[in-house]
Amino acid sequence: MADAPGTGGGDPPGAADVEFEIRPETDQSFENALAKARAGDRLTVADGVELITTGTDREGIDPRRKELVLEAADRRRAEVVGEEVTFVANLNNNVTTACNTGCLFCNFKDAAQRFETSGEPRSSNDHGGFTKTPEQSREIVDDALDLGIYEVCSVSGLHPAFALDDEHLEALEAAEDPTEVNYKPPERYDTDPGTYVEQMEAMSVGDVHLHSMTPEEAYHARRGTDWSYEEVYGRLKAAGLDSVPGTAAEILVDEVREVICPGKIGTDEWVEAMEAAAAVGLPMTATIMYGHVENAAHRVEHLKVVRDLQDRTGNITEFVPLSFVHENTPLYDRGLVEGGATRAEDELMIAVSRLFLDNVDHVQSSWVKYGDELGLKMLSCGADDFMGTILSEEITKRAGGDHGEYRGFEEYVEMIRAVGRVPVERSTDYEQRRRIDGDPPYGPTLGPRADGTPMLGERPPATAGDD
Ligand code: SF4
Repeated sequence: MADAPGTGGGDPPGAADVEFEIRPETDQSFENALAKARAGDRLTVADGVELITTGTDREGIDPRRKELVLEAADRRRAEVVGEEVTFVANLNNNVTTACNTGCLFCNFKDAAQRFETSGEPRSSNDHGGFTKTPEQSREIVDDALDLGIYEVCSVSGLHPAFALDDEHLEALEAAEDPTEVNYKPPERYDTDPGTYVEQMEAMSVGDVHLHSMTPEEAYHARRGTDWSYEEVYGRLKAAGLDSVPGTAAEILVDEVREVICPGKIGTDEWVEAMEAAAAVGLPMTATIMYGHVENAAHRVEHLKVVRDLQDRTGNITEFVPLSFVHENTPLYDRGLVEGGATRAEDELMIAVSRLFLDNVDHVQSSWVKYGDELGLKMLSCGADDFMGTILSEEITKRAGGDHGEYRGFEEYVEMIRAVGRVPVERSTDYEQRRRIDGDPPYGPTLGPRADGTPMLGERPPATAGDD
């Protein structure tokens, strides 16, 4: 895809109708910002804006300047982590798609009332979504452990019957107006998701690493109470939670959140929840979802929030830029965006993440969002992690993404070696790493039941937004 004119100022295509106070305007020059980046100096927001726009002094992205930014980021990557490219053997097990939050970028959820036994339409088959019981979750994780997974990642819709535990259920049931706290009793639904604690206990099979409970889910797990986030994450950790995905971040600038996810917690509360997770000793990741209505200044402000959080906690293991997949989303259907980020914007997002986040070691290239070719290219733009096997991937597929839902070790090794880098199997927190040398067959070895046997055969053909 060619560099689109008009994006250098930071406005994605189609975002012109949204007026923001924060604009990509600075007193800094591109040259100064680049010199600071090359020298390894800590960057200001103005520096970041100059780099991510390839200079606010001109319209559009300058291809020559872009290459200079990518080069600086690639060099920084080599200094920080060397030539290894990591990936993890993991499974996505999302518990439910029922959600009423109404984020405009999301097509993962299904209106929760459609899951009710007496809902309209009456049959759960009509909505195409799902809710899993704790028993079903356990079975799925148990099966995947036999295939050699190290990690189960679980991120779900905010089902109105979902509560932290029995005590939380009691508190929600005692509420004067349960709908005020987004609660309906489990009996109202076709399938009872159980409590968050029950789901954690169910998925925590053997020594599998359980990566779950975003700040937004933690908010849901304390709604209607005055419990602190530390209390919530403490109970979840006791139930088996091992680390926290810093998703639901989208853009951590409230004027953007008000447009794309007005029903979600604000930036301050997201940060508060993450600090609490860190305080109880949980490692975490951080993400950005970009390429919708936000501008370049919002992207860099977001990076600043993440860098500050990391300065205070040190618990962020990796940063994951997620390019907005626009098809099948309300933002696109309502004409608020005409598309996602351009390829040049994607490359610059990865590069500036690497340069700006001087306190986060790992930057991930998400092949589910970028596809194989661009995903691999990102490994020379500052990224050093190439995601995981994700045996099932509902989220991206439901938003129209078409880049598949499973990647085996053989394919990983082949792709990473093809770009001259070193394939390394890792644990979620990067503490355990195994360099993959030699000849095939290649399979995972770090998971509790992994013995080096390849996980599955050929990757099934990718399907595009078919549900
Ligand atoms: S992004 Fe999450 S909270 Fe928002 S509508 Fe989708 S499932 Fe619900």
